[in-house]
Amino acid sequence: MPTVLLIEDDDESRRATSELFAREDWTVFEAGDGEVGIELALKHRPEVIVCDLLMPKANGFQVCRAIRQQLQPTKIIVVSGRDYGVDRTGALEAGADEYLVKPITWDLLSSSIDRILPQPPRKPVDENRGAEFHPLSTRLKLWGVRGSIPVPGPATVRYGGNTSCVEIRGDGEIIILDAGSGIRSLGMALEHEFGERSVKLTLLITHTHWDHIQGLPFFLPIYKEKNEIRVLGYEGARVGLARILAGQMETPFFPVSLRELPGNIAIEELKEMEFSVGKVRVCAKFANHPGVCAGYRLTTSSGSVAFFPDNEPYELLKVQVADRDQASVQEAREFAKKERQKLVEFLGSCDVLIMDAQYTDEEYQTHIGWGHGSLSRVVSLALEAQVRKLILFHHDPDHDDEMIDEMLERARLLVVESGATLEVEAAREGAEVWLTPRRQQQAPGN
Ligand SMILES: [Zn+2]
Ligand SMILES: [Zn+2]
Repeated sequence: MPTVLLIEDDDESRRATSELFAREDWTVFEAGDGEVGIELALKHRPEVIVCDLLMPKANGFQVCRAIRQQLQPTKIIVVSGRDYGVDRTGALEAGADEYLVKPITWDLLSSSIDRILPQPPRKPVDENRGAEFHPLSTRLKLWGVRGSIPVPGPATVRYGGNTSCVEIRGDGEIIILDAGSGIRSLGMALEHEFGERSVKLTLLITHTHWDHIQGLPFFLPIYKEKNEIRVLGYEGARVGLARILAGQMETPFFPVSLRELPGNIAIEELKEMEFSVGKVRVCAKFANHPGVCAGYRLTTSSGSVAFFPDNEPYELLKVQVADRDQASVQEAREFAKKERQKLVEFLGSCDVLIMDAQYTDEEYQTHIGWGHGSLSRVVSLALEAQVRKLILFHHDPDHDDEMIDEMLERARLLVVESGATLEVEAAREGAEVWLTPRRQQQAPGN
């Protein structure tokens, strides 16, 4: 569903516009003043913003300027009760795409949207697949954000307690990254959405540590004959992918074996590091993590997403190992530098990076060699790779909501200190991120 943000201080008029959009199946966010509006715009990155001109805290001109600087693809429609030429010109100069005079009707809005969006959002585009896909955007939804083991409870309600699972919808595909315990809720949501229709999806497994596969036996779509499920991953260190996934469903661990499942499930071991899922291009890279563990970079027509749920930076690890083995520390540093550079290149300029940031820098000192990330190293990696948005992932089971808040604040501070622009979020169960195509760059003249 396309997303709109309404920024309007008049509650009644905002509610009326909200209803117009909601009736057309838009997801609507609302802000009562300009400041909150800018905040929500950066958080939700809607396709369209409808913004009043005269509001407390930040007026429509200020909102347009702030948003235009940071959210190029978002279209802004300014609405005003006044029809002065100077207001119209001022709004367009500040970055608005349209200027409409109240009262606002759906006809007025929709013809405006048709004009400014290159391909206006429409309802279902792919009848065969039965899913509702938004042709303009790729949507990411986080269903499980935790590492190691699920930790539900009052201390983790805000960020969530389920283990690794991310859903990506783009270019007509449903791609699921990892089958941690978060996949259970995703399965229920898919069955609810599709009903009697077939669900066709691809599950990409990064590795078979339990926190990345333990939800699979509870993923409802595997129990329905109508569904087609492809499971892709690299071979485990000792046994094949299919055997590992089947193994956790054998007696005495589970009452229903994988063989008995009615759903059409194809488990395929990946041999190549580059492949496609429909129109989505996938590149893989092995992560620095015990056993065979891959990270993926997916490129859709709307942008790219990289997923490295478990990964340890090489820097300190290599030096420590060199120290222990009495090898050359200098050589170890060189090796680490090269490996890091390869990762920087792999992640280069991706729109969203979801990355293992399990430990604070202090905690990492006592967890070197455990296979997980430390906060400042992950931030510096994302900065170096010029990523647009970093999502801190694989939260430690011992970290409660406050602790994750603190880590997020620390990460954002590091970005500010660097002077660069990088959006940072801590992965939160239920959070959605929309990717919209970047504005076409104008070709330089000869
Ligand atoms: Zn893990
Ligand atoms: Zn792992």
